[in-house]
Amino acid sequence: AAVPLGGSVIPIVNKLQDIFAQLGSQSTIELPQVAVVGSQSSGKSSVLEALVGRDFLPRGNDICTRRPLVLQLLQIKTDEEYGEFLHLPGKRFYDFSEIRREIQKLIFGGHEVTNGRLSNNLSFAPADLKSMGNLALVEQPKSLYPVVATSLGGPAPVKGAQTDKEAGGNKGVSDKQIRLKIFSPHVLDITLVDLPGITKVPVGEQPADIEARIRTMIMSYIKQPSCLILAVTPANSDLANSDALQIAGIADPDGYRTIGVITKLDIMDRGTDARNLLLGKVIPLRLGYVGVVNRSQEDIIHNRSIKDALVAEEKFFRSRPVYNGLADRCGVPQLAKKLNQILVQHIKAILPGLKSRISSALVSVAKEHASYGEITESKAGQGALLLNILSKYSEGTSCIFYHICVVLNLT
Ligand code: GDP
Ligand code: MG
Repeated sequence: AAVPLGGSVIPIVNKLQDIFAQLGSQSTIELPQVAVVGSQSSGKSSVLEALVGRDFLPRGNDICTRRPLVLQLLQIKTDEEYGEFLHLPGKRFYDFSEIRREIQKLIFGGHEVTNGRLSNNLSFAPADLKSMGNLALVEQPKSLYPVVATSLGGPAPVKGAQTDKEAGGNKGVSDKQIRLKIFSPHVLDITLVDLPGITKVPVGEQPADIEARIRTMIMSYIKQPSCLILAVTPANSDLANSDALQIAGIADPDGYRTIGVITKLDIMDRGTDARNLLLGKVIPLRLGYVGVVNRSQEDIIHNRSIKDALVAEEKFFRSRPVYNGLADRCGVPQLAKKLNQILVQHIKAILPGLKSRISSALVSVAKEHASYGEITESKAGQGALLLNILSKYSEGTSCIFYHICVVLNLT
């Protein structure tokens, strides 16, 4: 009865992900999602924000992106627009700058910090933690970074095997997800993961192998055969040295699930353009490239809205003859469209496999139930519900895909 009949398959997949997260078994069942990879400051968070159409991600601060953010976009028919975190069920955030504050709180003031130690193994004295909690409330992300970097070098490490144990023995970046849903009439139904940027040089007390740790975490997402990869490379850097394409190439060597995203087309060297990049003539990519123009740091400082930025982006492409004839490879709306088309194909292909995995997950939950008695009853119930939902949806496929086509239309 809880199944909304007539919805597209993607909200159903989002629902499955929520239930799996609560069952604590999300890692055992690979559900389709879209992950953003690239080097630090390549424009990953900017691309995500532009796709969502709202300002809410901490940007320009590498520490803020040291924890995966799983973002579910859900289209609703009302005019309301709000966010809701999994860890704060029922609390609706209508003010998107509060969402950003909550994310920053999670990183600096909340779960991430254990006994004065960030789970990325940076250490702080309690007093520094307190001041960082306040710092996390500072609105301009760029101004945050240098101050935090100063605190990194300052305090002596807090002792203890205990803290290491609480951080799960994970001395690298934290792989603990932040899960956020955005409900809006203006989004396509999709799940996006903002992953930490690849950094090469440790700062402050970051461990020497920080790059390897971040890569391992990124790989844990993008190696999943059901993960679509947005490989973000700025146009003002050399594509041949792209961290994004390099790591995506390891995870997805045949390029069946990697979309190239070229950012910063507006700040390329005078006299150069991205035409050949977008045409795949520099590094071919099966699913191709989309070029975008996001807000610059100056735009952000001057509070330029994403809406205005999208208008400016369109104008940018219209006024550059070199991008004529490449309309399907230019702009954030094209990226959204391409993403959804690929996602739908993808979901179609994996539905049968998903169903059998859930069947076997259900069998093991039932076994657990048998051995522990009442404890797992609700889990078994949820598993059965899942199976029920999936059965419904994999039978009436033509109907689902009609609805997906409706979702595909950009508003
Ligand atoms: P991330 O570290 O990959 O998440 O990168 P961010 O999204 O935080 O962007 C890093 C910086 O680059 C910010 O100051 C953005 O304003 C800026 N930026 C991102 N994309 C573009 C773009 O297309 N054009 C320009 N001019 N600046 C951009
Ligand atoms: Mg970022």
